[in-house]
Amino acid sequence: MPQIRCRFCHESVDAGEIRAHEAEHLKPRPDGQQSEYVTLPPEERAEGDLAGVPRAYVHRKCGAGTGMPEEIIRSYLKDPFLYTAEATYCCGCRRHVPWRECRWVETGEDLETYFRALQAAKPEMRPGPLARLVILLARLFRR
Ligand SMILES: [Zn+2]
Ligand SMILES: [Zn+2]
Repeated sequence: MPQIRCRFCHESVDAGEIRAHEAEHLKPRPDGQQSEYVTLPPEERAEGDLAGVPRAYVHRKCGAGTGMPEEIIRSYLKDPFLYTAEATYCCGCRRHVPWRECRWVETGEDLETYFRALQAAKPEMRPGPLARLVILLARLFRR
């Protein structure tokens, strides 16, 4: 059986088991946050100093602040197209809220503007037409 690497824990899993395996990672915790998020494998993440990279954001609608985990920061810095939902978890609302409703504590910039700038700086990482179609379908299915 061919092996596929899990996008959450990055272990190799039998191809036939990968869906069930990844579904376990997506189960919400009691606080409503997903237990784990897609990240890049540790060796593929952005390296180096995170000085100047914002770490905490405030949700405009509820005023609560949430910290961005370092493994997620290092993943999106490398691939700004990784988080296609364009939403982030809010500790106050206990659910995912759109990027545009949040701003960084450190810079005051809203997260949507921030991620758009990162994406514009790495056009070569932009998913191709087929990947974009899959993303679009995934969004439609979630509604
Ligand atoms: Zn896994
Ligand atoms: Zn909130």
